[in-house]
Amino acid sequence: MSARRPVARVLTREREVDGYQLPIDISRREFLAYASIFSWIPFFRPKHVSLVGARFRITRYGHSNRRYLVIHGNEETAREVLIAHMRAHQGIAYIVENHTRTVPVESGQIDPNRMFSRVGAEANLKRLNPDWPPERLEAALAVLDHGREKLVKVLLPPSGGLTIALHNNSEAYSVRDEQPISDAASIREPDNPHAFFLCTDDEDFRKLTTSPYNVVFQKKAPPVDDGSLSRLAAGRGVRYVNLEVATGQGSRQQEMLDWLEWNLE
Ligand SMILES: [Zn+2]
Repeated sequence: MSARRPVARVLTREREVDGYQLPIDISRREFLAYASIFSWIPFFRPKHVSLVGARFRITRYGHSNRRYLVIHGNEETAREVLIAHMRAHQGIAYIVENHTRTVPVESGQIDPNRMFSRVGAEANLKRLNPDWPPERLEAALAVLDHGREKLVKVLLPPSGGLTIALHNNSEAYSVRDEQPISDAASIREPDNPHAFFLCTDDEDFRKLTTSPYNVVFQKKAPPVDDGSLSRLAAGRGVRYVNLEVATGQGSRQQEMLDWLEWNLE
């Protein structure tokens, strides 16, 4: 196939490569050549990024080094809050497309917020797929190892930027679970432990302690490697904030997100 074939011809059938919708007969190499030339044109930017069954829709607005994430598909409150937020705030949002907490991998499941380290992924895969033979576990880990860094690079912020991940929790999880493995905490709402920030940066923590909300600070990666993105961010010294509220507390989550927007650089 000629490398000079025009890219803008009629697209009849499409397939997806690296999140782009492409005519079916464009090769990946050909596509990458075009992508490097045309990447500044919004049409040519990828609309999705994925790793195993976790497929994230990308929403861009304006120019900002802020990144936003909804990683758990069943956290519909967080999804609604972030979709509304992106209509008025600049940055890039990554919102998982499926609607369950776990995503498919090989013939089983994984929690997408446990796939950011091999150790964390292995523990989660064993727990969720107890009947897997060792070779299937190895195959799933190999796929994750192969694609992990590309996804991490997308989800973590550029230098000086900030990634904000929105989550919803239930009775089973609150700030009380994070406090013992955190470097510091400011608990302004002890009676509302389900609403809290978890941050990785000194200056962000200092500012968040001036808020009326609960906040925990994890400057170092917590001792147990759970494969979460917040632990990875702490380990790499990257600015990252988890914003947790109980399921259904959308107006509270919006309020806390607005507080972040106003008060953090
Ligand atoms: Zn979550």
